Amino acid sequence: MTVTPDGTPTETLKPDFRSDVTVDLVKHTAGDSDVLWAARVSTAGEQSLEELSKDPERSKGLINYLMRDRHGSPFEHNSMTFFISAPIFVFREFMRHRVGWSYNEESGRYRELEPVFYIPGESRKLVQQGRPGKYEFVAGTPEQQKLTTRAMEDSYRQAYEAYQEMLAAGVAREVARAVLPVGLYSSMYATCNARSLMHFLGLRTQHELAKVPSFPQREIEMVGEQMEAQWATLMPLTYAAFNANGRVAP
Ligand SMILES: Cc1cc2nc3c(=O)[nH]c(=O)nc-3n(C[C@H](O)[C@H](O)[C@H](O)COP(=O)(O)OP(=O)(O)OC[C@H]3O[C@@H](n4cnc5c(N)ncnc54)[C@H](O)[C@@H]3O)c2cc1C
Repeated sequence: MTVTPDGTPTETLKPDFRSDVTVDLVKHTAGDSDVLWAARVSTAGEQSLEELSKDPERSKGLINYLMRDRHGSPFEHNSMTFFISAPIFVFREFMRHRVGWSYNEESGRYRELEPVFYIPGESRKLVQQGRPGKYEFVAGTPEQQKLTTRAMEDSYRQAYEAYQEMLAAGVAREVARAVLPVGLYSSMYATCNARSLMHFLGLRTQHELAKVPSFPQREIEMVGEQMEAQWATLMPLTYAAFNANGRVAP
């Protein structure tokens, strides 16, 4: 319970603890035909979608050639908008991707932030072994898992109570939010094209077909995996060529 400046008691919101991230494809104009249409202007001028889809084998071959030889710009004439809900530390990594991405995130200045916090799920490996640049993650002991859950929940509760206490006392949201941790969930729209998404996936997912291995933090990889699954259904030829050519963005 917290109290407003005039002494009115207010109900403290109960924290919600989550271990997942959610990614919804909310808007798109993206298909393999967009790649073919852009690429064929080089040799054939303007073509109708009907003409483009006449020869599927040729389409597949052209997309693979563009991917293999890194002719990247035909993969930019499409658009996908995702609505993502994930902890703030994921967004902090995400927004390092500057090229071919647009972001709009919920505001901690204009709205009261809800008490939704991240706790690693059972499958999240907790312990890092090895030296920087050459390490692996292994499962924690049951004690380490219990400790992690308890320590995070306690800390989140305390932080959110302090936040609510300040709001109830009339402190501005933009000031009070300073006590909230990076495990708090946020949400954003992220818009990209297939080329910028492939660059993101090359860096933020681990995959057996990757020619250049990367070692992303698991939580941003969880976002990447969901984006990848949704993109794969929109642009199956492009997706297959991306995998066949070592998951390096063209
Ligand atoms: C596993 C992993 C660990 C990381 N660890 C850290 C870390 O410890 N600290 C940290 O600060 N960051 C870290 N990063 C972030 C990383 O350095 C990049 O900022 C992030 O991956 C975005 O990559 P990018 O710059 O290629 O993407 P984008 O910003 O989308 O750029 C795409 C491409 O455009 C070109 N480009 C963009 N901007 C410029 C520019 N200014 N000059 C020249 N070319 C440009 C480059 O070719 C670039 O690859 C890490 C990333 C990964 C995947």
